[in-house]
Amino acid sequence: MPTANAYAAPSATEPLVPTTIERRDTGPHDVLIEIKYAGICHSDIHTVRGDWGPQQYPLTPGHEIAGIVTGIGSEVTRHKIGDRVGVGCMVNSCGECTNCRKGEEQYCLAGMTGTYGAVDRDGTVTQGGYSTHVVVTEAFVVTIPDTLELDVAAPLLCAGITTYSPLRHWGAGPGKKVAIVGLGGLGHMAVQQAHAMGADVTVLSQSLKKMEDGLRLGADHYFATSDPTTFEQLAGTFDLIVNTVSAPIDISSYLQLLTLDGALVNVGAPAEPLPVNAFSLILGRRSFAGSMIGGIRETQEMLDFCAEHHLGAEIEVIPAAKINDAYERVLASDVRYRFVIDTSTMS
Ligand code: NAP
Ligand code: ZN
Repeated sequence: MPTANAYAAPSATEPLVPTTIERRDTGPHDVLIEIKYAGICHSDIHTVRGDWGPQQYPLTPGHEIAGIVTGIGSEVTRHKIGDRVGVGCMVNSCGECTNCRKGEEQYCLAGMTGTYGAVDRDGTVTQGGYSTHVVVTEAFVVTIPDTLELDVAAPLLCAGITTYSPLRHWGAGPGKKVAIVGLGGLGHMAVQQAHAMGADVTVLSQSLKKMEDGLRLGADHYFATSDPTTFEQLAGTFDLIVNTVSAPIDISSYLQLLTLDGALVNVGAPAEPLPVNAFSLILGRRSFAGSMIGGIRETQEMLDFCAEHHLGAEIEVIPAAKINDAYERVLASDVRYRFVIDTSTMS
């Protein structure tokens, strides 16, 4: 079995350390990828620290993978050696259930196989992208358009699709007022995408510290949620609110900002429950919904959309030795707007 250099968390409470991990031999439908860049998603931190439940350690996180194909199995048709490719949050699904057939593999009824920390078909636990190589079945490998740099593209594989999918599903576009809560990794992609789709975009951030960035990324308006007058001023304003916040927030007060029939879609995934006051839904026929990443077809569509509109993540490229520092900065909302690991620093 080939090995790869990687970083792994030895437990929920220890820093990530350099290690080597095994990758499976490239099977007939597999693609061997030399990973060039891996984004750091807040979900990596939730997972390795046990926020979402117990994990098997050591655990190599990373589901924002961009790299180059260096090997292919005998039956592979979608990719060839030298292709620029990406892998996101899942590496397999049953392929047969209703949701998989619809191209919504992320909602596979048998459970999709996560890129890390999931039990793979061969019984091993999947290990993610903070690593130099990965082997993935070709159907879960997408093509990165030539005009997108690999480092800028990496965060699109999770952050980019997680915001693109609900914006499309809930019809963000001309004539629609869309608010994005939280200007972090997901939020800064949501702002760019909603703007490119033609919506009127508002950022709701904890403070006005990042206002200049938000407006440059395409927001039309920017408000601080720490200012109570924000909630009075914006009552009944938005058709769609996408909440990207990684911590619990008072959902009911954000529901008040929706128009009649408006929807608040939660993509942020704090461990704690998000209680809702029924009247904030009833008064205004409002919806409170959720959305998880996006299917493979839609992920490719999102990459093509970002390339066409010249969108990408705003990144800070770091050597692997800085992963633990980056985690602390993400937790302190001190990220502008995605840390991306240069995996060549792992060798
Ligand atoms: P991130 O870069 O840390 O961004 C989160 C942002 O939320 C921060 O930049 C901050 O924005 C705001 N925030 C943080 N703590 C807050 C608090 N206590 N109160 C109010 N606002 C706060 O994280 P991310 O990588 O974008 O991920 C965001 C969340 O989405 C995580 O929970 C992650 O697990 C989840 N996620 C879900 C999916 C999915 O499929 N649904 C996919 C990927 C990630 P401001 O400074 O602007 O306020
Ligand atoms: Zn993610």
